[in-house]
Amino acid sequence: MRLQNRVALITGAGRGIGREIALAFAKEGADVAIWDVNFQDAQNTAKDIEALGRNSLVDKVDVTDFSAVENSVNKILDKFKKIDILVNNAGITRDTLLMRMSEEEWDAVIKVNLKGTFNCTKAVTRPMLKQKYGRIINIASIIGIMGNVGQANYAASKAGIIALTKTTAKELASRNITANAVAPGYIDTEMTQKLPEDIREKMLSMIPLGRMGKPQDVANVCVFLASTDADYITGQVIVVDGGMVMA
Ligand code: NDP
Repeated sequence: MRLQNRVALITGAGRGIGREIALAFAKEGADVAIWDVNFQDAQNTAKDIEALGRNSLVDKVDVTDFSAVENSVNKILDKFKKIDILVNNAGITRDTLLMRMSEEEWDAVIKVNLKGTFNCTKAVTRPMLKQKYGRIINIASIIGIMGNVGQANYAASKAGIIALTKTTAKELASRNITANAVAPGYIDTEMTQKLPEDIREKMLSMIPLGRMGKPQDVANVCVFLASTDADYITGQVIVVDGGMVMA
């Protein structure tokens, strides 16, 4: 098992990609703290982790609220005594054309996706520095690399996450803390299930591997980045998109 004796915190882990990462980590031997704004979903993920024989800690945490984030980090430290891995996964979309985008739609997405990632990263930095160990994995998106019609807020938030990842990597590297971003393409979750059929078809036609990604495809890369196999990798963006974006 690649994550034996590790303690991981995963945000937005009640469903979708976050839930899959949580289960994949538990299968590799990690204990996992589950945060989500939806407490019921978070509890369901935690139950499944415990069924795998691992410990979990569930908390209803909105990542936009720094004091809530800090309090909940302290609860994890009380229970598990350390936090080895942080996965900043919580994210939302509020899609519309730039011209029609309201200030609220812009602010909401930047606040959850970008400020949320900053809040959680800042809150775990002190314990990770003390431990001289940490693995920070930020879930970005290929949209943060290539932009997309109707997603100015989302694209800017995800590009911001990539820049934040590189800065985090540079600031914390001397204490054996790595920070990397995973940029998924088109993954089958509730977030993409709400897209109109014509957009879904168009996206699919742009994928060389000819299928949507599964949450497991993203989780596999997160397990790798959290494991000792990735000890010498930091500040990188790993694209998981079936070949949609090729540098
Ligand atoms: P989902 O919408 O399926 O899941 C996101 C989870 O995050 C939900 O449980 C949601 O709760 C929770 N959440 C939302 N806001 C907050 C908040 N403020 N604090 C804590 N939790 C919150 O999304 P996916 O699983 O598809 O996406 C996960 C990540 O992957 C996101 O960052 C997304 O941007 C990224 N991504 C997804 C892609 C895809 O194709 N699906 C592609 C590229 C990147 P609730 O449901 O109650 O709002």
